[in-house]
Amino acid sequence: MTRDTMEYDVVIVGAGPAGLAAAIRLKQLAAEQQHEVSVCVLEKGSEVGAHILSGAVIEPRAIAELFPDWQERGAPLLTPAEDDRFLFLTERRAFRLPTPPQMHNHGNYIVSLGNVCRWLAREAEALGVEIYPGFAAAEVLFAEGGRVAGVATGSMGIGKDGKPTANFQEGVELRGKLTLLAEGCRGSLTKVLTERFGLRKDCDPQTYGIGIKELWEVTPEQHHPGRVVHTVGWPMDRKTYGGSFLYHLENRQVAVGFVIGLDYENPFLNPFEEFQRFKTHPAIRPTFDGGRRIAYGARALNEGGFQSIPALSFPGGHVIGCAAGFLNVPKIKGSHTAMKSGMVAAETVFRQLQGDESVDYRRAMAASWVWDELYRVRNIRPGFHRGLFTGLLNAAVDTYILRGRAPWTLHHTPDYSHLRKASESRPIAYPKPDGKVSFDRLSSVFISNTNHEENQPPHLQLKDPAKAIEVNYRLYDAPEQRYCPAGVYEIVREGADSEPRLQINAQNCVHCKTCDIKDPTQNINWVVPEGGGGPNYPNM
Ligand SMILES: Cc1cc2nc3c(=O)[nH]c(=O)nc-3n(C[C@H](O)[C@H](O)[C@H](O)COP(=O)(O)OP(=O)(O)OC[C@H]3O[C@@H](n4cnc5c(N)ncnc54)[C@H](O)[C@@H]3O)c2cc1C
Ligand code: SF4
Repeated sequence: MTRDTMEYDVVIVGAGPAGLAAAIRLKQLAAEQQHEVSVCVLEKGSEVGAHILSGAVIEPRAIAELFPDWQERGAPLLTPAEDDRFLFLTERRAFRLPTPPQMHNHGNYIVSLGNVCRWLAREAEALGVEIYPGFAAAEVLFAEGGRVAGVATGSMGIGKDGKPTANFQEGVELRGKLTLLAEGCRGSLTKVLTERFGLRKDCDPQTYGIGIKELWEVTPEQHHPGRVVHTVGWPMDRKTYGGSFLYHLENRQVAVGFVIGLDYENPFLNPFEEFQRFKTHPAIRPTFDGGRRIAYGARALNEGGFQSIPALSFPGGHVIGCAAGFLNVPKIKGSHTAMKSGMVAAETVFRQLQGDESVDYRRAMAASWVWDELYRVRNIRPGFHRGLFTGLLNAAVDTYILRGRAPWTLHHTPDYSHLRKASESRPIAYPKPDGKVSFDRLSSVFISNTNHEENQPPHLQLKDPAKAIEVNYRLYDAPEQRYCPAGVYEIVREGADSEPRLQINAQNCVHCKTCDIKDPTQNINWVVPEGGGGPNYPNM
């Protein structure tokens, strides 16, 4: 069967800040220089924003470069960040510490990044960009000689058994002269091309954190629009990297989240439960007492920083945004750098389309403010490999004395390699949820509005199914039962004496990508499900 084909100058995979900024910049250049460029953007979420989950306090720097009149255009940056607080928590108490310079947010805005993307998508469409939500890019197309020639969307209506159902619809080929990968952190096609073209051979491994977030409507007395709170310390032990954020937006909403470095060692650690008990701290709980939880979700984020930036180009395209890893970890901000990288890539691509082969996207990125910003903070996150206090001390020396110019660079090792065996680790007892400020996983996933067609091939693939029990269960007590924030992985037994087996409830998956990252033998491969499946976040 031959697939339908659509031809474009540029095919962009992912309608996040990076992909949309790239699409807009391309159309702006085309209009300025009267040189038509056709651009399409594919998005696996049911609509733009449906799969976007962020903090978010954003720096408006890149938005202002893209649209100097962003305010008149109605960009949803409505709540200026005005009051920064940085707390160290012990089990019962909270100590206010000086706010590190990277966490000063004066001039920034507290937003829903999903809503910012919806606005960017409207601007992009007004410029003539074609956006296709509900279509997941499932396969890379190669031209003769191995050059990337675009992507294909997955076919719809294939059953669990791999056979077409009555609803079968063949995928479509979107062929582009150039392809931009803007899939965000741990993109599935980015992973394929990274391996194929050896994009990571000259850099550190990428490292990650898992961010779990809820959106609340709080009582008027507890609402302080513009307040930005970050915490470190409890409930993390001193060796585990992690902390929280609380951002007070407009409309009595508070975004609360917890980020844990995926280099954690104890296989009994449960990021979801850590987040739930964090909210019960005496200094945190009052914000949520009497309030209402509106939304829940989770997403991995890059933590490798400067030394983990891979080669950014491959024959036929480039990698942009968090797919490449441009997140500033001490700031916990990556949307401004994602947008800027998209804009720089667009400028490169525009010239490439006109036959200029001298342009170099990496060189252009190195000349941009993104490079300098990431270079200066490159030693802060790896400083925490030796624990919280060493990390804080290293961060202070690196920031205040060395000013990011240390003559050394600290390095990373892959997150999965840090996991200890269950026999060497201490089980953790988590408190039961109270149903007021703390909750269980299933009721949480319910308010992520996650939905997948049940009759489809699994999108969570085990390279070697036997390892689930032989390695993961026997040696690590199946850590995927705990690190998955959606309860997708369960060890079940049919009867008391029967052998355990791994059950994968793939329809609950919120596309955070943690299992693809943290599995101790890298046995889990996350691939896109049918387009439109996954969470339906309102304004995360
Ligand atoms: C918990 C948390 C808190 C954060 N807080 C902040 C903050 O306060 N400030 C800040 O600036 N940044 C913050 N960040 C980081 C910020 O969210 C990212 O840097 C930013 O979203 C990266 O943009 P992106 O366009 O590269 O990727 P994403 O925003 O991840 O967008 C990628 C898009 O591509 C789509 N996609 C992926 N694969 C495919 C495919 N194969 N086919 C079709 N579509 C696909 C996805 O569905 C998604 O819509 C935070 C991140 C997290 C997880
Ligand atoms: S199955 Fe994997 S990607 Fe899906 S929610 Fe769980 S950990 Fe995240």
